[in-house]
Amino acid sequence: MPVLLPYPFAGPFDYAAPPSLGLVPGDLVLVPLNRRQEVGVVWDAPSGPAVADSKLKPVSARVEAPAMPAPLRRLVDWIARYTLSPPGQVLAMALRVNALVPPPMILGWRAVSEAGGVRLTPESKSVRLTPESKSVRLTPESKSVRLTPESKSVRLTPESKSVRLTPQRQRVLAILGDKIIPGADLARQADVGASVIRGMADAGLIAAAPVPSVPPFGRPDPAFRAPVFSPAQAAVAGHLRGLVSARSFAVTLLDGVTGSGKTEVYLEAVAACLEAGRQALVLLPEIALSAQFLARFGRRFGVAPALWHSDLGSRTRRATWRAVAEGAAQVVVGARSALFLPFPDLGLVIVDEEHETAFKQEDGVVYHARDMAVVRARFSTAPAILVSATPSLETLANVEAGRYAHLRLLSRHGGASMPAIAAIDMRDAPPPRGKFLSPVLVEAVRARFARGEQAMLFLNRRGYAPLTLCRACGHRLACPNCTAWLVEHRARRELSCHHCGHTAPSPTMCPVCAAEGTMAPIGPGVERITEEAAELFPEARRLVMASDTMPGPHAAAEAARAIEAREVDLLIGTQIVAKGWHFPHLTLVGVVDADLGLAGGDLRAAERTVQLLHQVAGRAGRAEAPGEVKLQTFSPEHPVMQALISGDLAAFYAEEKAARRPGHWPPYGRLAALIVSAEQADAADRCARALGLNAPAAPGVEVLGPTPAPLAVLRGRHRRRLLLKTRRDIAVQPILQAWLATVSVPRGVRVDVDVDPVSFL
Ligand code: ADP
Ligand code: ZN
Repeated sequence: MPVLLPYPFAGPFDYAAPPSLGLVPGDLVLVPLNRRQEVGVVWDAPSGPAVADSKLKPVSARVEAPAMPAPLRRLVDWIARYTLSPPGQVLAMALRVNALVPPPMILGWRAVSEAGGVRLTPESKSVRLTPESKSVRLTPESKSVRLTPESKSVRLTPESKSVRLTPQRQRVLAILGDKIIPGADLARQADVGASVIRGMADAGLIAAAPVPSVPPFGRPDPAFRAPVFSPAQAAVAGHLRGLVSARSFAVTLLDGVTGSGKTEVYLEAVAACLEAGRQALVLLPEIALSAQFLARFGRRFGVAPALWHSDLGSRTRRATWRAVAEGAAQVVVGARSALFLPFPDLGLVIVDEEHETAFKQEDGVVYHARDMAVVRARFSTAPAILVSATPSLETLANVEAGRYAHLRLLSRHGGASMPAIAAIDMRDAPPPRGKFLSPVLVEAVRARFARGEQAMLFLNRRGYAPLTLCRACGHRLACPNCTAWLVEHRARRELSCHHCGHTAPSPTMCPVCAAEGTMAPIGPGVERITEEAAELFPEARRLVMASDTMPGPHAAAEAARAIEAREVDLLIGTQIVAKGWHFPHLTLVGVVDADLGLAGGDLRAAERTVQLLHQVAGRAGRAEAPGEVKLQTFSPEHPVMQALISGDLAAFYAEEKAARRPGHWPPYGRLAALIVSAEQADAADRCARALGLNAPAAPGVEVLGPTPAPLAVLRGRHRRRLLLKTRRDIAVQPILQAWLATVSVPRGVRVDVDVDPVSFL
């Protein structure tokens, strides 16, 4: 019986199956391997010529865990073949949970059903307190006693009348229901502070209790708060509902301007999926986005969905994995790894912001989660919905070829207008020497502040300055491990390499010419823009959002709350602010360096710049107040700037397609990259040259390279790249396999395969 183990072996191993275990494909089993016991999965395909059972080691035991569903096993095999990865390495992504160890016991809160002798329901407006009630925090002045965390502590006397349940407390009780939920989760789901929970415990409204090994995942209620759709939205929502009810595989692009209600509408597909009793998966490119999404999901369905990403605590991870496997978690929102969850009955897959390159996993098994989500949907016989305001050319090509359906929402919801986008020509209106904000942009920001509105400055670059050089000798500070400049992070008083993570203290003296005080920052990062903004707008309340200053969804959620509550005037951020946020009072977006993304010059530089800047622009003017966007650029005539200013993305897409089609560049052809790396440059060169000499030759097949990679040295390894380009109707995998077989890769040299590369570094 074939058993696949979560290690990079070529395929499953054969074990003898004791009939008493009654094993079937998908079962999790313990098997002996090199004198250890390993967890594996009973696989389907025979692993080569049958070996007599008597010669095989037997399976040791069955693991008490739900079996891996067939669609997930098919996905593992499919990804392994497509990416040329060992299937066990793909399996490892689906088995990262140690299903053998039961989660440890922890404490959570449960609602006290009869506080003060009164039956508590979420609808209760007040609670009568009895002499037995514990000490309660309250304002002595209040007539009817109102509980708030700010109130002073007063000991309740038997004469005290009643305690009102604040909306926050009602929310907590509504979420608790008859469940037991850990404090942090409860606070997050109810969107209240820890002090509210503490206050309720003090008041005897809730009590501590051990959390059951699998926390019950709330049942989302499809009818909890259904929106009233515009006719256009209703048509799209109805179509999506139909796809879910059809229970068949189909891919649909849901395309519409930011703020048109795409999210609202695809949640309708989730509702249909819930009504059908099936599970739904929503993939987001950035887990920082999940907080706003969770809150929104809660408003629509009454409970939070299960959340899945790589930073989950091990206990939550195990519990969530089990809940998904047992069907208790009906909706999962997650990062790309959520694709590998063992849904027994997946009825819908949604990929939000489908154009995002964050869906491409670059380490280990190199795969594109958007494309694999479509494959997952196919094996589950379920619809996939790809959502974007600026779809990828790949997806648009699939629409043109008739493979994907196309649904559109053409206008913003509720009459909100699209922001007016204009360029600031930096040659005509340059900033003062050593500064980065044009006087035109500064004036526009001031005007917004004068009207009590919010503004945002966007620069897709972390840190203070991307380059530090010595004014005396011209020496530039580079990473010792990579072909990259060190980026100054002034707040942390250090330089860091954004490729390998190397850090060094900021030097006061040039390491080459030993001159003192000559090291100068060149160019801006968000920290430097923040400094400039502090000088220009000292009275403005500023908030910086960058992935390094804002780790995790909670910090991002808190920032979003502060912005929505107008506790912030000026938001300064990197690409983390670009995506999906809804800030109703933000009416001006200033893009500090609109040309930045065009510099790299790879295949998708223009496409990505349009997508990113369009997304950033979409943050402006989402409510009644019309928004405006200013692009600081040195080339306002560039097609990318023109597309953004005119709002005519269709023309841009047409031009971009026309540029790629003749040369068979994706999406009109296929690419696969080979990255050869070694600690010794000549070892990398020799292997890369050998691959170059054996390059496949056939009509419609072309090999570019080998060439030193743009990141010629990364983490101390020398890197060479080869690029295989084929016509779209030619599969790259067999060609790659045959090609790789012609070269024996020496020890210390690695050849990484990247099918459908997104990064060309
Ligand atoms: P998109 O995903 O296209 O950017 P959203 O779904 O986020 O658009 O909608 C933008 C805003 O408009 C959100 O605050 C959303 O709640 C609101 N909205 C959209 N459609 C409706 C509707 N039919 N009823 C009420 N609010 C809506
Ligand atoms: Zn480095």
